Amino acid sequence: MDNKKLIIFTAPSGAGKTTIVKHLLKVRQDISFSISACTRKQRYGEVNGMDYYFFSVSEFKRKIENEEFVEWEEVYENQFYGTLESEIERIWALGKHVIFDIDVKGAHRIKRKYKQRALTVFVKPPSFEHLKQRLINRKTEDEKSLKRRISRVKEEMTYERFFDVTVINNNLDVALQDAEKFVNDFVEEKMKMV
Ligand code: 5GP
Repeated sequence: MDNKKLIIFTAPSGAGKTTIVKHLLKVRQDISFSISACTRKQRYGEVNGMDYYFFSVSEFKRKIENEEFVEWEEVYENQFYGTLESEIERIWALGKHVIFDIDVKGAHRIKRKYKQRALTVFVKPPSFEHLKQRLINRKTEDEKSLKRRISRVKEEMTYERFFDVTVINNNLDVALQDAEKFVNDFVEEKMKMV
């Protein structure tokens, strides 16, 4: 299992990282999605134990106290998200690399912990306006939540410098190709890691 790796996709909310991660899961059989724990409300169509492990805030806090997380963040007020160490172990035990879709702070934390064993990919939207429009069009948030996400985006954009590589999501096909190439080079150990 020692050659199994961590591939972390991170981005400001709405930049399109989830689409890229889903594509990679389709084209590569050797990676598996890290199901995060979270306390936000389950969205229509989401399945507990597939999209997220949904917990109450008190259950989540108990897991923090028990040191079950490799990282966790209060991404929005009272909305906690985190990666359980048991989740990484579960996927490595399947003989697969782990792929993550997590926020910029969590990504930075995992990179600091696992170093060369982890690749961090920052997905960058072409512009702030573009990203705002995507979040509006997605229609997954109510007005309050939308405002909260938009106000966080500017801070999230400043994190790019902490990550190994950037994929610009201007043209989706190009972004998917770039992402595939980075993951391939990393898994094949053709990429020089710092
Ligand atoms: P959403 O509510 O849209 O599913 O996710 C909100 C944000 O939380 C996204 O940026 C998502 O990538 C991030 N996120 C999801 N899981 C985790 C996690 O385990 N840890 C951290 N730090 N962020 C996460």
